[in-house]
Amino acid sequence: MATSNATPEDAPVEPDTARPEGIDATSAAIAAIIDPLIENARQMSAIHAERARLLAELHRLGEHPRIIAGLRGDPVETGANDPDTHAHGPAWDDVELAERTLATEVAGALRLHSTTARMMIFNAAHLVEKLPGFQKALAQGRISWAHVLRMQDVTTGAPDEVLPALEAAVLGKAEKLTATQFGRVAARELDRLHPVSLQERADVGVTLRRVVLQPDVDGMAWLNAYLKADEAQAGYDRLTRIAKSLNDADTNDGADGADPGCEVVLRTMDQRRADAFRDLLLDGECAGGLGRGIRGTVHVTVPVLTLMGKSFEPGMLEGYGPIDPETARRLAGTAPSWDRILTHPETGCMLSVGRDSYTPPADMKRYTEIRDQTCQGIGCNRTATHSEIDHTVPWNKGGPTAVGNLVHLCKACHRLKHQSSFRTRQTPTGALTWTSPGGKTYTREPANPIGQPTPSAPAPAAPSLPRSLGRAEPPPF
Ligand SMILES: [Zn+2]
Repeated sequence: MATSNATPEDAPVEPDTARPEGIDATSAAIAAIIDPLIENARQMSAIHAERARLLAELHRLGEHPRIIAGLRGDPVETGANDPDTHAHGPAWDDVELAERTLATEVAGALRLHSTTARMMIFNAAHLVEKLPGFQKALAQGRISWAHVLRMQDVTTGAPDEVLPALEAAVLGKAEKLTATQFGRVAARELDRLHPVSLQERADVGVTLRRVVLQPDVDGMAWLNAYLKADEAQAGYDRLTRIAKSLNDADTNDGADGADPGCEVVLRTMDQRRADAFRDLLLDGECAGGLGRGIRGTVHVTVPVLTLMGKSFEPGMLEGYGPIDPETARRLAGTAPSWDRILTHPETGCMLSVGRDSYTPPADMKRYTEIRDQTCQGIGCNRTATHSEIDHTVPWNKGGPTAVGNLVHLCKACHRLKHQSSFRTRQTPTGALTWTSPGGKTYTREPANPIGQPTPSAPAPAAPSLPRSLGRAEPPPF
């Protein structure tokens, strides 16, 4: 019987003799297109980098006193006493005048709206001046424009002093992950480096909650759901009416962090509208019974020391990333409908049940779920909880039921693995390498760097409970 020390190295190697004839021709035919496609993507990245360089250059130009002087119009017309200028509001200062003039220059040249052009110039300057490592990697075609946009999203508003360390920490990831996956990693890393704690930032963030209605084309609109314009408008109007009807004197029950019974903290209209939206979405029921008895479930990993209030390490919300310790604590402690996972270095789970059982025990499933977070298919982001557990070396070829031989694959990726000539290999730590029919390899590292559980003490006869993460309910203290 396999013990908990079993690793995939102990497992039989998947035979590679079953490759049908003609596979080399298939591989060559695919590679003949994929290789130029990779080169094409490199060139597109380099072209994006060059455009960013030119726009950043223009931005610098707009800061030059001689250029600024050249951008000023007729001194009579720009004068504060000119009635025509005065009618248009106060005159722009030199900086704003330069920015707007040059943005309009770009807008005309590239057939863009001047606001779009201004944003492009701003982003280009941000990239070139504050993220030089990303600019260089883009110019060399090592990352795509989509990765740069994610990095810009993540770093907008972040303090300048953390950017060099952030770049150094995540650039390598941008070269390996999809833009979406990379964005999550970068956000997590920024949280770690940020000089202001996540708790403080979340406290500010929650005061900015609001509902946004945005018109779109073709009779549609966004209420951050893509809806018919009239329905979106009516929904927004209903939220506004509900928000107006809310009597804040009754709502000071401490739920928003205010001391119950103390000074009433009035919510803004935006906040009340957002709260109405949240309550209707999370708990609302329609007259016909739609939504009755159905509640959303989320998965949260909470470090046990955070739970005990002895650490400010954030909790991890599956499919999102770090959340503030206070919210993590509240979710783990109070709300029964939230699925909570406690992590503790001393809480064990079984590493392997060898060939005893095809189905992994619950704590092994939980361990791989925390480790993988998402489907481990190429570029796939479907959550682990909506995926299936796959034996990398198939059970019917002798593969053991062990954490080093189990990964999460969503239905589509699972099917691809079994029905196509894609092949997979797995390391004991959970990294999964796919080999494509075109002869390329792609490795998915486990999303959660919790590492391989290391067996504690000499293994007893039965499968041991090594150091690891796992589910513990009730809390182990
Ligand atoms: Zn998948």
